[in-house]
Amino acid sequence: MNFSFSSKVKDLQRCLQVFMDEHIYPNEQRYHDEIERNRWSPPAVIEELKPKARAAGLWNLFLPDREHGAGLTNLEYAPLAEIMGRSFISPEVFNCSAPDTGNMEVLARYGTGEQKERWLKPLLAGEIRSCFSMTEPGVASSDATNIEASIVRQGDEYVINGRKWWSSGAGDPRCKVAIFMGRTHTGRTDTGRTDKDRTDADRIDPEKTGRSAAPHQQQSMVLVPMDSAGLRIERMLTVFGYDHAPHGHGEITFENVRVPVSNMLLGEGRGFEIAQGRLGPGRIHHCMRCIGVAERALETMCKRVQARVAFGKPLAEQGTLRADIARSRMEIEQARLLTLKAAYMMDTVGNKEARAEIAMIKVVALPAVATNRSSDPDLVSITSLVSCLPSTSLSKRYFQRISETSEGYSSLRITALTRSAGESCALNCDSADPMAERTTRMTPANIVRECVTVTWFSTTGAFLTVVTGGF
Ligand SMILES: Cc1cc2nc3c(=O)[nH]c(=O)nc-3n(C[C@H](O)[C@H](O)[C@H](O)COP(=O)(O)OP(=O)(O)OC[C@H]3O[C@@H](n4cnc5c(N)ncnc54)[C@H](O)[C@@H]3O)c2cc1C
Repeated sequence: MNFSFSSKVKDLQRCLQVFMDEHIYPNEQRYHDEIERNRWSPPAVIEELKPKARAAGLWNLFLPDREHGAGLTNLEYAPLAEIMGRSFISPEVFNCSAPDTGNMEVLARYGTGEQKERWLKPLLAGEIRSCFSMTEPGVASSDATNIEASIVRQGDEYVINGRKWWSSGAGDPRCKVAIFMGRTHTGRTDTGRTDKDRTDADRIDPEKTGRSAAPHQQQSMVLVPMDSAGLRIERMLTVFGYDHAPHGHGEITFENVRVPVSNMLLGEGRGFEIAQGRLGPGRIHHCMRCIGVAERALETMCKRVQARVAFGKPLAEQGTLRADIARSRMEIEQARLLTLKAAYMMDTVGNKEARAEIAMIKVVALPAVATNRSSDPDLVSITSLVSCLPSTSLSKRYFQRISETSEGYSSLRITALTRSAGESCALNCDSADPMAERTTRMTPANIVRECVTVTWFSTTGAFLTVVTGGF
């Protein structure tokens, strides 16, 4: 394996870094302020920056398809995704944000000419956004063969019924289309026997069971315009209290929604085939963006522990902090190398052959960064925990949250030892980095609660990451 980057990639890295310095980092606070003023409206700053990114040639870099995108391999795109991941606002500015990236790849790879014209074109131009509706509240969706929503053909139309949740991006008014996963083959036989009643031989022999099919051939993906009659967004979900506006994660009811049969992607029963194609690149993108935010978190913390003095010496010289920083450095390096290896494998031997490595980067690399391997949860929470998160906006939100917790946690542990219980402690973040600019006031009760949250999230977050797949 040779991980040295070509001159094309090095040039793009340089351009991206310059753009990040000139346009992205200085506008993070403005983005945050605009969202605070109007939560479910796209911030003007993003729309202002998009034409600049496009003019700089930093647009649709994720798309390996030369006709529509930059034509970069996974290994070439990975270091660029890492740079974009350093800021929660940048992926969208470069039209490289999830779930649009995965959806655009699906359309580019499997869409008909008509589907590309109607949906891929405006997505590539950054004029609209999209969501992916697979997960359902009613079934364990980590096993997508469980998906129950139905797609039933009636004449020239499909009639769609089901309830979905965690449809990321559905809260954005620019979200105009959903890729919806549901059953075209119900798994129910003419005799009324259900899937459970059927033998394994029945399941894998569609001839015997009429409309039923092997479990991995029962699901299909269909394009559903968000303004379809019968489509209702019931609520936006929160992740640890954050709604991630204006992106959001929607719970959506589909009640007798009708779409033309031409909206079917690839063909009935081919949903898993599409999902497989979508998963690999999306996971590389997520992992590299997470590594980007982990790097930034580590840099932020390194600056901070050098600048602050406690008990007569910089925090950086206190206790085990240096070892913890080294451990985080190693975990990030390991995660990056493993992700680059997965990207290299995808490029050289294909997604199928690389499936073990694609799984590893979530099952080993990201949880290694995400979970607390060190003895000091404050350090891990500031550098590493954020990196398990599946979306960059989430990372930002969670970074803020964890920054509060962990920056406070170091000081507070000492303080808590020297102060009597019940006394409150003031924590001040005065770093010049806007990501570290938080002031919070915590009571010992809050500290305990936060520690529990961090520990719980360390395991649950890794767990979620494993099952979240490429969204
Ligand atoms: C922030 C966020 C964004 C998301 N965005 C999208 C989106 O855009 N579109 C979409 O369709 N979905 C989205 N999801 C949903 C996500 O894909 C699902 O949560 C995931 O697929 C798991 O499904 P489930 O929630 O039904 O969990 P379940 O399947 O009910 O699983 C419950 C628990 O069991 C564990 N588990 C499952 N199988 C095993 C096993 N074999 N061994 C051990 N443990 C197991 C899981 O890890 C999980 O902790 C998002 C989720 C989050 C948190």
